[in-house]
Amino acid sequence: MPTNRTIPKLQFDHFFDYQELTEYVTALAAARPDFVSLSSIGTSREGRDIHLLTITDSSTGPAEDKPAYLIHGNIHATELAGTHASLYTARQLLASRTTSELLKRTAFYIIPRINPDGGEFVVKTSGSIRSRTDRSERVPNTLYQEDVNGDGLILTMRLPHPNGPFVADAEDSRLLIRRRHDSRPPFFRTLPEGLIHGWDGTDNISVEGRGFDWNRNWSYDWRPEPEQYGAGDFPFSEVEMRAMAEFLFSHPNLYAVLGYHTGPNAVLRPPSTGSDTDLDEGDVRVMQELADIGSEHTGFPVIPVIKYRRDGGRDINLRGHFHNFGYQHLGLFVFEFELGIMMNSAGISTKDIFAVKTEREHEALVRRTLKWWDRQKKRDTLFEPWTRCDHPQLGAVEIGGLLSRHLYNPTLPDLERIAEKTCKFTLEHAARHPRVVVEDARAERVGDGVYRVRARIANRGEFPTHVSNRGKGLRRLQGVRVEFRPAEGVTLLSESGHRTLGHLGGLTDGRELEWFVSTDGDAGALCELRVLGGAGGNASVSIGAAD
Ligand SMILES: [Zn+2]
Repeated sequence: MPTNRTIPKLQFDHFFDYQELTEYVTALAAARPDFVSLSSIGTSREGRDIHLLTITDSSTGPAEDKPAYLIHGNIHATELAGTHASLYTARQLLASRTTSELLKRTAFYIIPRINPDGGEFVVKTSGSIRSRTDRSERVPNTLYQEDVNGDGLILTMRLPHPNGPFVADAEDSRLLIRRRHDSRPPFFRTLPEGLIHGWDGTDNISVEGRGFDWNRNWSYDWRPEPEQYGAGDFPFSEVEMRAMAEFLFSHPNLYAVLGYHTGPNAVLRPPSTGSDTDLDEGDVRVMQELADIGSEHTGFPVIPVIKYRRDGGRDINLRGHFHNFGYQHLGLFVFEFELGIMMNSAGISTKDIFAVKTEREHEALVRRTLKWWDRQKKRDTLFEPWTRCDHPQLGAVEIGGLLSRHLYNPTLPDLERIAEKTCKFTLEHAARHPRVVVEDARAERVGDGVYRVRARIANRGEFPTHVSNRGKGLRRLQGVRVEFRPAEGVTLLSESGHRTLGHLGGLTDGRELEWFVSTDGDAGALCELRVLGGAGGNASVSIGAAD
C-alpha cells in the first residue's frame, strides 16, 4: 500500500535544470500516487523525455474519462519561468483543500517544459536561443554559442571596431548603448560568446545558423520562411511539437489549453493574425471575459496577440501560432500568460514598456531596472563584469554583460507571487468545464419479462460540449454518443441501441432516452450505458431490473 508522503515544496530560488525538474515531478508523483501519474508525451531531439503530469482523483475514474485542462510551459528556451509556474499549479492542485471537488470531476495535464533541450541550454549557460537552432549542419562564417572563457556561462563578447554600433553607457558603465553622432570611442561591436565555424576572417559573421520558433510551427495558417521567421519546414515538423499535436488530437476530453511564456506581462488571447472580426462574436465575448478574470487576479493587461506590441506599431501577424491553432483547430478558449520580464519585477509596467518610442527611452528603462536590481537583497547574478579574454579567433575581446535567463524572466520571488495568481485563474477557468452525466437511470417492468429502460443524459457543466461556437463544426470536438450494452440474456426491442446525441449545451441541456428490452432470465442486470461525451468526459451506468 503506498503511503502518502509529504508533497515536495517548490522552491523559487533558482530555475531547474532537467535533472532537478525530473526529480521534482518524480517526487510529486511519488507523494500522491492516487492523484498524479508521471509519463512522457515523447522524446526531445536530444533524447530527453518530455514530462507529462496527469493529475486527477483516480478514485472517481481515470483522467481519460474526465474533461481535461492542459498547461504547457517553456516552449521558448529562455522562458524558464513557465516551468515553475506550471509546477506551481501542479503542486497547488494537490496541496490545496479547495481543489478536491474539481479533481473528482476533471483532470489536468501539465507539461512543465515542452522544450527540455532548449531549457537545459539556457539554465546551464544563460545562452540565448528562441526554441532551437540547427547545429547539425554547421554553416561557414557562423558563430555557434559556446563558453569560450571557461566560466560556465555564455555571455556577450564585445570588441572594439571602427564600425561598432555600441558604446559604453556614461551613466552605467555596465551597459552598452547605441552609438550616436556625438558618441566618443571606443566603439564596440558585439557577438554572443562562441566560436565561428569556418571563419574567413571577414566581419560577415552570422549567429547560430537556422533558428526555429516552435510557436510558429502549429498548423493553423502556417507559412514557410521567409514569410514567417522560425516556422520550420512544415506544421509540427519539430519532433517535440509533433508529440504535442499527437497528444492534443488523441485526447478528445481536452476543453482548455494554457501556455506559459515570458515577455512584458500580459494575459494573451486570440487572435494572432487578422482581427477580432475573424472570430465568432460570442466566442470573443467569452474569451475576453475569461481573460479579464486572469487580469483581475494578476493585474496584467489583457491583450489580443495581434496587439502585443509597442504603441503605434503595426499589428502583429503571427503565422502558425498557438492561439489561432488552439481556437480555430481545437475549438477551445486558449490563453497564454506572459509572466513578465525583469523590467516588470522592477516595477515598470507593460504599458510603460510598450510606450517606449526611442532607443534612449528604452535605455532609460534598462538603467532603472539595473538600479532596482542593485537594491535587491536576494538575487542571482544579473551582470558579469566585462573581462578580457584572448579569443582563439578574434584575439582580444571582453566577455561579460547581462544574463539573458534573468533579464527575460521575472525574478524568482516575483514569480512565486505571479504563479499563485495565474493558478487562481486556471482554477476559475477550469471550473467551467463541460460535464456529461447520466441522471435518473431506471428500468420499469411493462410486461412479462419486458422492461422500459430510461435515462437522462445531460451536460451539467457551464461550457457546452463543443466548448466554443467555433468548436461546433469541428470533428475534434466530439458530440455525445451513448453505447447501449445489453446484459447477457437481454434482447433489445427498440429499433436502435446506440444513440448519437450530438452536442449538449451548458447546464440545462438534458435529453430523455428510452429503450425497451426483454429478458429471459431472472430479473437482474439489464444493460450498461456507456456515454462518450468528448470534452464533457465519459460516464457509465449499469441498469438492473430492480432499479
Ligand atoms: Zn514565449
